[in-house]
Amino acid sequence: MKFASLGSGSAGNALLVSAASGTTSTTIMLDCGFNLRQTELRLGRLGVQPKAVSAIVVTHEHQDHAGGVFRFARRHGIPVWMSLGTYQALAEDRNGVEVNICRDGHAFSVGDIALTPYTVPHDAREPLQYCASDGRRKLGVLTDAGQSTAHMVEALVGCDALVLECNHDRTLLDHSAYPAFLKQRIKSALGHLSNQEALEILTNLDQSRLKKVIGAHLSTTNNRPDLARKALQEGIRNPATGIGIACQQEGFGWVAVSD
Ligand SMILES: [Zn+2]
Ligand SMILES: [Zn+2]
Repeated sequence: MKFASLGSGSAGNALLVSAASGTTSTTIMLDCGFNLRQTELRLGRLGVQPKAVSAIVVTHEHQDHAGGVFRFARRHGIPVWMSLGTYQALAEDRNGVEVNICRDGHAFSVGDIALTPYTVPHDAREPLQYCASDGRRKLGVLTDAGQSTAHMVEALVGCDALVLECNHDRTLLDHSAYPAFLKQRIKSALGHLSNQEALEILTNLDQSRLKKVIGAHLSTTNNRPDLARKALQEGIRNPATGIGIACQQEGFGWVAVSD
């Protein structure tokens, strides 16, 4: 199994997870927060044809995650998965798109990849984050959560790789020019994870299999890659665990989930 990002941050998110077994291969796109042109361009950068995407799995209705979902799905005939709440919150034209509803704790499969949705605290109707597995390895994805919960930490047990939100540095956010209401929203229990909270989640996490952590959804105003990296570095227990940082423009290239 391997994964890559088309871009990560408040201006757009999309993650690819790909697995192959024998003669078949499956690539799913987790969120599609870019417009059609940008999505196709960024897929091309990662060597993926739109037709090779087997499904789009959506975390929640915010523009930076769902903004491009239905257009891309319609154009290329790709089925979509999301929670009922996300479906109801999205007012876009869904004509001609196959939509499947999923919910917390109920695993489903797309080709060679099993996905397990889990609930997170975020200011959306029914936000879900996902773990993906090819039966041998497990990738955990966690962005857009306001705080650490026992349910999240439980869902991420036994991950071989983890994409973890490091949205902001508390001090940078406090001193930024953002209006007070926005700072409050970001910091709230339904907002976004700070570097400090990402560190706390890592500290509480079962890291027995963890080989790779990628910091994601960084704010370009209220965070810096070196600060996010430092927090993740502090949180990992095995010094051999690799650390990466996703960026808005480039995301990150293919990362193999290996032994
Ligand atoms: Zn977001
Ligand atoms: Zn969000």
